[in-house]
Amino acid sequence: MSYQTPRGTYDILPEETADWQRMEEIIREVCRLYRYSEIRTPIFEDTSVFKRENDSSDMVNKEMYTFAMGHDSYTLRPEGTAGVIRAFDQHKFYGSMEMPAKLYYMGPMFRHERPQKGRQRQFTQFGVENIGVSSPEIDAETIALGCSILRRMEISSIRVCINTLGDDSSRAAYRTALKEYFTPHIDCLCPDCHRRLEQNPLRILDCKADADNPVLKGAPSLADYLNEESRTYFERVLKALDDLGIAYEIDDRLVRGLDYYTHTVFEVKSTRPDSGAQATVFAGGRYDHLVEYFGGPQMSGMGFAIGLERLLNLAKDEGWKSQSASCARVYVIGLGNVGSAPLRIAEELRGCGISAEVNLIPRSLKAQFKSADRSGADVIVIAGESELAEGKVNVKDRKANEQTAVRLEDLSSRIKEILSK
Ligand code: ATP
Ligand code: MG
Repeated sequence: MSYQTPRGTYDILPEETADWQRMEEIIREVCRLYRYSEIRTPIFEDTSVFKRENDSSDMVNKEMYTFAMGHDSYTLRPEGTAGVIRAFDQHKFYGSMEMPAKLYYMGPMFRHERPQKGRQRQFTQFGVENIGVSSPEIDAETIALGCSILRRMEISSIRVCINTLGDDSSRAAYRTALKEYFTPHIDCLCPDCHRRLEQNPLRILDCKADADNPVLKGAPSLADYLNEESRTYFERVLKALDDLGIAYEIDDRLVRGLDYYTHTVFEVKSTRPDSGAQATVFAGGRYDHLVEYFGGPQMSGMGFAIGLERLLNLAKDEGWKSQSASCARVYVIGLGNVGSAPLRIAEELRGCGISAEVNLIPRSLKAQFKSADRSGADVIVIAGESELAEGKVNVKDRKANEQTAVRLEDLSSRIKEILSK
């Protein structure tokens, strides 16, 4: 029997981890610049954290990995926001943190979806949440943070699509209008949309099966149901984006896959023709009721999540390279009966911040040199019996193809000199 990763999951192999680490560094650096702090929440939560009353999203209804332990029901997190807000309330950050609280997270998420390129069952999200203040300028800054990450990953072929869902009363008016419009057309809609019509008709606009259904195209537009306050809020978001030089398109059919959004919602998509199912790199919006749901005061939040597999794929498609040096810079080999001297020398070099690999396998000098070559080391240190007796080793500068004897106490400075050339 041979074992494989479960469908929709994958291994990140050693040759790929350098790219992942560099991407994660870029993200952390941008978060630092925008003054967001990391929060790490559990990978599973009580199911009720994700499955909230009346939630009509596919993610909650069809895609969750839920399991029972004794009398308790748990769910592997399908997204990051709910856990962050649960923590925000649990630790009463609303009483202790400067508002808006600015938090970010990065880690695996789980959704039982049909696997395809850019769509896995375990995938990685980075996301931010700022909580406590509702302002159009904060919405714009949040979008700018995400765009800044894309820019640093050298991704330029993107489109920012934005919409507003308005406040509660605008949305309620729109929901009624949609229900009136869709009810006579119910037979033309997919079975899931029958449920959506009852639970949340806005969801129908986000249906993947009905995406090209002409009935959807004729549906009323939310823009016609926005009250004055919601309209002004949205105009200010757009103005701030203009001021920041962020180009966007208004998409009045954009409703997003989760039920908790209010006011601003957005999706950032790749415009590369080959991006297919993974076109949306990141997406998010404002939410007004989550903090209350988990037991905190009425407070608004705004956030987004980036799918890191998609981000990395797009970056690579656009030619991004992580440029991180992964090979050892020094390789130490022993010659003759030198015991653990090579190991000790390597340890001392590492102590001086020099990356070193050491031959620990009994083998011929020729085989050791071959292994040193394969390691890609810049410098080879040869610890020979007679040289060691005089407190010296031989140092080979591979690029210059020069070999010199160096006193042990000068070794690290000599190597640093070679490496800095
Ligand atoms: P989609 O419409 O592609 O299903 P979504 O609306 O379900 O996306 P969100 O919940 O907003 O996605 O998650 C934000 C980002 O996380 C997405 O834009 C995407 O980059 C990534 N993402 C979501 N689901 C998956 C998945 N199954 N595999 C890989 N990445 C994913
Ligand atoms: Mg989805």
